[in-house]
Amino acid sequence: MLPSTNLLMFDVIIIGGSVAGSFCAIKCAEKSLETLVIEKDVFPREKPCGGGLTFKALKTIGGIPREIVENKVYALKLFNSKGESIELRSKDLLCISLFRSKLDSFLLNRAVDSGVKVLEGVKALKVRDYGEHVECITSKGVFKGKILVGAGGAYDLTPRETGLREKWSKKEVIVCATANFKLGSKIKEFCDLDAFEFHFPGFPIGYAWIFPKGEWVSIGVGGLASSFKKPLRFLRAFTKRVFRERRVNPLEKGKERIHILPVGGVKRRIVKNRVLLVGDSAGFADPLSGEGIYYALKSGELAAKSCFKALRSGRHEYERECWEAFGLDLKIARKIALKFYGSEDRVLKAIKPFTRIPVWKPVIRDERGYRKMMSYKIARAAAKTIKKII
Ligand SMILES: Cc1cc2nc3c(=O)[nH]c(=O)nc-3n(C[C@H](O)[C@H](O)[C@H](O)COP(=O)(O)OP(=O)(O)OC[C@H]3O[C@@H](n4cnc5c(N)ncnc54)[C@H](O)[C@@H]3O)c2cc1C
Repeated sequence: MLPSTNLLMFDVIIIGGSVAGSFCAIKCAEKSLETLVIEKDVFPREKPCGGGLTFKALKTIGGIPREIVENKVYALKLFNSKGESIELRSKDLLCISLFRSKLDSFLLNRAVDSGVKVLEGVKALKVRDYGEHVECITSKGVFKGKILVGAGGAYDLTPRETGLREKWSKKEVIVCATANFKLGSKIKEFCDLDAFEFHFPGFPIGYAWIFPKGEWVSIGVGGLASSFKKPLRFLRAFTKRVFRERRVNPLEKGKERIHILPVGGVKRRIVKNRVLLVGDSAGFADPLSGEGIYYALKSGELAAKSCFKALRSGRHEYERECWEAFGLDLKIARKIALKFYGSEDRVLKAIKPFTRIPVWKPVIRDERGYRKMMSYKIARAAAKTIKKII
């Protein structure tokens, strides 16, 4: 328990203790900053998520315990609604699957072990920037800090409270519906254990996924909120179809959840005076793949660096550093997404030439992956062909 908190001045207060918040806190603690994390839930808790972690995200964390890894993924399978598919396979690890309850608890515990003060089950209610310091008013008292990091996810109150953003427009948000299904030993009959499946059944903009997770599968659908209505209806129709076609009945069904995912690739204000936004609060998910964990981790890391710099010299370049580290990549992803999605055959046609030439691999394995992909002559030539197809 913290002492009477009104007397304390933290270097950094972080709202939200999920991937962006806890990783930012770990990095702040490494720089000896007095850090407080305020998290409204009590961990472990499950968050609506496919639970796919790319190799580049894994590298950023610097390794995770073996026991929280469910599946190792070496292939991506892409399907159209006729059941035609292509497979992108790699000798190198592409992704792992896991339950978010386990990943998020692991990161938050690591923050505690690094010396971060963590308050779970405490909700941030208001944020006040007084110029010389910031205050976070919570369900358990008021906390003062020199800098505040908004890591409260897609519905974070920080942007609203500080005037950085009122709300998301429907054009910058993907709406998803998802559920986990327990298949037990039948999972082997249902899907490949080392592959993630992406289905393009002609949604307005988006796709459906099937990710194996131990004895469970995560199934979900997502599409741009401006054109993708009634996601639950799509989810139910899709799951009914795949279970029927593959002749496997789930043993148990987890709760159906709807959640939004704000996507990046456009410049937004993510800094105001003593306040910085990270992860989904800043709208940093990949518009093409929906990957958000890597960008949450990376922005958390960059925010910690900026807090340290700002406290020493009064200056930081967080916005520019995010744009340079991955904003330009997300811009490329956005362009591709806008061209690709909407027709089930476009994606398969465009990717087919690359089943043998893995120019797509950097996107999953490397920082600045989209830029690296586009630096291959063959990918640039393909982009021209794709333009013609589209
Ligand atoms: C259905 C779905 C599937 C996805 N699948 C994948 C995937 O397979 N791979 C991938 O890389 N990305 C995936 N994503 C994206 C990924 O989940 C997010 O990008 C990532 O979780 C962002 O992390 P974050 O820490 O910024 O926010 P979040 O993980 O949303 O965490 C925000 C935290 O802040 C806390 N909080 C919020 N408000 C307050 C408050 N007022 N006071 C205190 N605490 C507060 C919340 O309780 C929560 O713990 C998916 C997203 C969705 C919606």
